[in-house]
Amino acid sequence: MAVSVTVIDARTDLRPREPVMAKAELAALQEKAIGRDARGILELALTGEFEGRTAVVSSFGAESAVLLHLVAATDPAAPILFLNTGKLFGETLRYRDRLQDVLGLADVRSLSTGLDTRRALDADGSLWSREPDACCGFRKVAPLAAALKPFAAQVTGRKRFQTRERGLMQPVEWFDGRFRFNPLWQWTQRDLQAYAETHKLPAHPLVADGYPSIGCIPCTRRVVAGEDYRAGRWAGLDKDECGIHAGTDGDGI
Ligand code: SF4
Repeated sequence: MAVSVTVIDARTDLRPREPVMAKAELAALQEKAIGRDARGILELALTGEFEGRTAVVSSFGAESAVLLHLVAATDPAAPILFLNTGKLFGETLRYRDRLQDVLGLADVRSLSTGLDTRRALDADGSLWSREPDACCGFRKVAPLAAALKPFAAQVTGRKRFQTRERGLMQPVEWFDGRFRFNPLWQWTQRDLQAYAETHKLPAHPLVADGYPSIGCIPCTRRVVAGEDYRAGRWAGLDKDECGIHAGTDGDGI
């Protein structure tokens, strides 16, 4: 599979890695990551050769506090990219502000699509009801891709248990022209809950209201007893990813 050409660091004019080089680096990083715990994988992602060159991507959703707490312990100045789609719950925006202060996160960056683009592509704000992939595309995928351009790597809070596709996840992958670290790849819901309780992390206020997984308002509903915890995301549609993380091309170089 061809590797997309991406400028890894425009400031230093660092060139995109050649596919063979990237594949060798990925193999070396995967070897270093295997056997490390989440904190160890984060140290790999945020210090040493990747210091200042990695961004953390967070939705400030139901499970985000765990990863962000670990990030704060590793490098509180790490850039954290948050997609403000314009369709989020007010609770999520307030939770972002609260976690930022409680955890001491120094560089939370809120990304959104420009007004002209919103007017051109979704003038009445109802695109989600007709073409949800297109809506996610311009509200999430495009702004995140632009924000990630200066970075050599990203950190995600994805877990293997979340979806069938994520079940194939590796601790380090190559995705869309950069390395992707997944410190929580092997964590279970029980692990997350235990960590949050141990460290007394603030919970997203909508979790107690029946939302175990939280995205945009039009595409998130409450989950009833017995349903999968992500059943409330894009309910009734053949869609379980917004596109920003699609693919687990760990070997796809
Ligand atoms: S989750 Fe729904 S509202 Fe949010 S960007 Fe995607 S389609 Fe649009």
